[in-house]
Amino acid sequence: MHIVVCIKQVPDSAQIRVHPVTNTIMRQGVPAIVNPYDLFALEEALRLKDQFGGRVTALCMGPPQAEESLRKCISFGATDAVLVTDRAFAGADTLATSYALAAAIRKIGQEQAVDLVFTGKQTIDGDTAQVGPGVAKRLGMNLLTYVSKIVEVDLDGRTLKVERRAEGGVQVLQTTLPSLITMLEGTNQMRFATLEDMLRAGRFPVRRWSKEDAEIEDVTKIGLKGSPTVVSKVFGPTPRQQKVDLQVLADSNLNDVTLNLLGKLFTTHPQLEEELVERLSA
Ligand SMILES: Cc1cc2nc3c(=O)[nH]c(=O)nc-3n(C[C@H](O)[C@H](O)[C@H](O)COP(=O)(O)OP(=O)(O)OC[C@H]3O[C@@H](n4cnc5c(N)ncnc54)[C@H](O)[C@@H]3O)c2cc1C
Repeated sequence: MHIVVCIKQVPDSAQIRVHPVTNTIMRQGVPAIVNPYDLFALEEALRLKDQFGGRVTALCMGPPQAEESLRKCISFGATDAVLVTDRAFAGADTLATSYALAAAIRKIGQEQAVDLVFTGKQTIDGDTAQVGPGVAKRLGMNLLTYVSKIVEVDLDGRTLKVERRAEGGVQVLQTTLPSLITMLEGTNQMRFATLEDMLRAGRFPVRRWSKEDAEIEDVTKIGLKGSPTVVSKVFGPTPRQQKVDLQVLADSNLNDVTLNLLGKLFTTHPQLEEELVERLSA
């Protein structure tokens, strides 16, 4: 079984701030990490490798520093790592990113046919959740989004059954391989890297592919040139002015608390009291 896991290196969003004057994202000094959602995808892929054998290739499009994130994947147990990196990819939006990743997966598939592609649910920086579906469409793969559990893989019958979290319930879906799965968070727990794999990761020859290596057919579809999206404005949410009103409940009974809350509500919104009286007397 050959599984490709797409991972993106992202700035640790817990440490990102929006500049109060220019409204631009301040990335300086912010450490880069593997997009946390992608680790759920990687763990699921590694579990399938444990079960069926085969290989897991970690794939990332990004600057040369993103190699560090791929080494992390190797330390967790990925078999191989490919970094698609070229100045020509800079400024890519989700269309251009999915085009480049799809080309790289096609190329990876020339070495050994790809049965499954995993992506995370979304990234913590771009947050669009568009890249997975974009890659699936370009590769003509069946797409399973927001997967919470892989129920069954039948390699001989080339079928796959998953649970997908949907609004109001869980869907059980069955499809054929090859497929692309976008994996939900919280569905598994990432394993610890073994000492042996950590040492292997340090020495691992991560493959670096330029646009030529990735066999990009149409260079007008990558990087800024291939990106019709324009970010017109970035801004942080306005902080709330109103403070939370803490109610001390000890030694109070429910009636007192209710009357107290209603009193405060009617003081702030007097029209509500009038409406309530009107409705009760109607
Ligand atoms: C006009 C414009 C210019 C931009 N310029 C830049 C820029 O110069 N540099 C920059 O870093 N970003 C840039 N971006 C952001 C970039 O478009 C997105 O980060 C990228 O397309 C991925 O989208 P996303 O983060 O929303 O991923 P999502 O669609 O939320 O990601 C879903 C999943 O796809 C996979 N995935 C996503 N991106 C990658 C990747 N690169 N490699 C491997 N797997 C991936 C991961 O598994 C991820 O969990 C730009 C965006 C716009 C609109």
